[in-house]
Amino acid sequence: MLIKFTCPHCKISLNVGSDFAGKKGVCPNCKKELTVPGKSENAPEEAKKTE
Ligand SMILES: [Zn+2]
Repeated sequence: MLIKFTCPHCKISLNVGSDFAGKKGVCPNCKKELTVPGKSENAPEEAKKTE
């Protein structure tokens, strides 16, 4: 399963494996540190799309 989120710095769309949920990483585009959002309990409201 992939987590889709947007880099807070450069706004690029990113997909990471769910293993990275809640972990810190570095954006491959802008090279800044970011935190991967967790599962739905921590997701921002914009992420609540029903599949
Ligand atoms: Zn970025």
